Amino acid sequence: MTPRHPSPDLPHVVVIGSGFGGLFATKALKDDPVKVTMLAETGHHLFQPLLYQVATGVLSPGEVAPATREILRRQRNARVLLGTVTDIDVPGRTVTSRSPAGELRLRYDNLVLAAGAGQSYFGNDEIARFAPGMKSVDDALEIRGRIFGSFELAEVTSDPRALAELLTFVVVGAGPTGVEMAGQIAELAHRSLTGSFRHIDPSRARVVLVDAVDAVLGGFAEPLGRRATERLRAMGVEVLTGHKVVGVDATGVDLENAGGTRERIPTRCTVWAAGVQASGLGRQVAEQTGAGTDRAGRVLVEPDCTLPGHPEVHVVGDMMALDDLPGVAQVAMQSAQHAADQIRRRAKGLPTGAPFRYRDKGSMATVSRFYAVAEVGRVRVSGFVAWLLWLAVHLVYLIGFKNRVTTLLHWAVSFVGRGRTERTATSQQVRARTLRMDYERMRAAGPSPSDV
Ligand SMILES: Cc1cc2nc3c(=O)[nH]c(=O)nc-3n(C[C@H](O)[C@H](O)[C@H](O)COP(=O)(O)OP(=O)(O)OC[C@H]3O[C@@H](n4cnc5c(N)ncnc54)[C@H](O)[C@@H]3O)c2cc1C
Repeated sequence: MTPRHPSPDLPHVVVIGSGFGGLFATKALKDDPVKVTMLAETGHHLFQPLLYQVATGVLSPGEVAPATREILRRQRNARVLLGTVTDIDVPGRTVTSRSPAGELRLRYDNLVLAAGAGQSYFGNDEIARFAPGMKSVDDALEIRGRIFGSFELAEVTSDPRALAELLTFVVVGAGPTGVEMAGQIAELAHRSLTGSFRHIDPSRARVVLVDAVDAVLGGFAEPLGRRATERLRAMGVEVLTGHKVVGVDATGVDLENAGGTRERIPTRCTVWAAGVQASGLGRQVAEQTGAGTDRAGRVLVEPDCTLPGHPEVHVVGDMMALDDLPGVAQVAMQSAQHAADQIRRRAKGLPTGAPFRYRDKGSMATVSRFYAVAEVGRVRVSGFVAWLLWLAVHLVYLIGFKNRVTTLLHWAVSFVGRGRTERTATSQQVRARTLRMDYERMRAAGPSPSDV
């Protein structure tokens, strides 16, 4: 049975997703004569830009993923329901979702589709087993387990080949996520973990950043990409641009350069930060309405972010293809607020259809502690000033006062000090397939340092 909304006599807005798009659309409708149902497959709002810090032991999952229900506690016209949307019937105006509790069908007057994007392996999906992406809390915890697990296993192995593999980390994709991830692994190995091991020297770890394109931070102005590369190299990161990944397995990554020459990097820990694919729900609604999709599966929406012929359906954020706008948080927030504005006008009987105008507030990426690059309009900065800017912006957009305080404390511990307090890996993560195989192989290989 479908649960009844506490405000039954108002137009029903169903919002799919609790990311930046879903949350900002819902919050923007808080004073309006509508009832809102936020339907999402997780119970939290995920601040994706800081996921890499969960993966590298700086932050806890709760700091980047507070409960959506808690965030919306005071918004009386909104409710939060858990479920994975499997079907959207655009002509019939219904959404069907599933959860372990069963199937749920909701009728809507307005729909905001904000289901985001997943990792793309460019048709090579078996790679995912060996090179997890960085899209969810589960991904970050999986990667955390693999990074810290690699150091732990390196400490107990006596097999030189396994040792070299375990102390090599490959990050695929030199966009902001890849750069941040490679920088953090390098800092972890060369700074945070020094003195913690007795057998291995973590600072001898090899960190390799790979990209098929011949650029680092390709979306940024050229000088910033160059400065980020210089900084990464100074930190000991090997930057291999112009190298395409042609295979990943449990013990290494195969690369091919523009001349067709192949090489293999032996590693047990590969992080995939290259390419995204919009939620399949986009294709579903596009097929029903004649809207096209782009190569990343994003829906080609009308200028007001709606589906052609369906002013009641808005597609926002990472699922939306409009004016070549990038898949970034600001696009998701602003397009969601635009959708809410149109829904409000519709509920009040006012004209709708105003085009969405994006205000670019700039982009930034951290490379290491105290070093970031930032581009705001024509202003380009790198170094400590950019890092302070990065710090301030991320604190402002983190949800919840308590989260801001604990995040700031964790940053002080990790960046001013050298601690990584969030290293816990559950047995579930340590038992990750490749590491388990390593462990069994090593046990068969012979004495470990603790035996001698
Ligand atoms: C690692 C990483 C780092 C990033 N760094 C930056 C950065 O520094 N700056 C920046 O501006 N942007 C950054 N981004 C991009 C930014 O996070 C996204 O553009 C933004 O999150 C998009 O918001 P969204 O609401 O469209 O999608 P998302 O935030 O991805 O939210 C999608 C929501 O939909 C839900 N969902 C998905 N499928 C279903 C389904 N079938 N049924 C129900 N619910 C579903 C998900 O659970 C989630 O709640 C980063 C992204 C990643 C992954």
